[in-house]
Amino acid sequence: MGAITGTFKGFGVTFSHMFRKIVTTDYPFEPAPAAPRYHGRHILNRHPDGLEKCIGCELCAWACPADAIYVEGGDNTDEQRFSPGERYASIYQINYARCIFCGLCIEACPTRSLTMSNEYELARDSRQDLIFTKEQLLAPLLPGMEQPPHPMRLGDTEKDYYVGALTNPGTSAGAEKAPWSETGTKDATGEAS
Ligand code: SF4
Ligand code: SF4
Repeated sequence: MGAITGTFKGFGVTFSHMFRKIVTTDYPFEPAPAAPRYHGRHILNRHPDGLEKCIGCELCAWACPADAIYVEGGDNTDEQRFSPGERYASIYQINYARCIFCGLCIEACPTRSLTMSNEYELARDSRQDLIFTKEQLLAPLLPGMEQPPHPMRLGDTEKDYYVGALTNPGTSAGAEKAPWSETGTKDATGEAS
């Protein structure tokens, strides 16, 4: 008698789960959305005219507790301008074999160049592929943006990009959230497709 009761109890557990909400997901075909403030892969943002916000100051690299960021600054010239002001990042790399996604680099960045997306699909087959280059990290060009190098379009000095001008508060609306973070579609370099 006890065995029969136990059997029904066991099936009771099974049946009760059959009518509960399904929590499994069909990953990787239908990736679950991350929490809005999830710390995912980084983005190097742009100004509204397409110039890069990064000025190659290396503050993010110095703030990183995992030594995951490598930056080399270069000088802008009138003929070759990648960002407003004097300097830009000629080399920018983040090593995702080291990164612990703490966000300290984001806090250190004085220009809001560096932000984090919600993308969490960062597994790669080799350590080398885990080192993301500047080209992979740069935000895609949005409509109205122009591929650098090009002259400053929003003012005569870098101040016009960063302070004072109410008509141009220096934000790149839309660029801080890469399109692929919403659609989940991107090519091998992380560019929107
Ligand atoms: S999130 Fe943290 S560990 Fe990763 S690069 Fe930024 S500071 Fe370094
Ligand atoms: S991302 Fe920000 S902190 Fe890092 S080098 Fe560029 S401007 Fe400086």
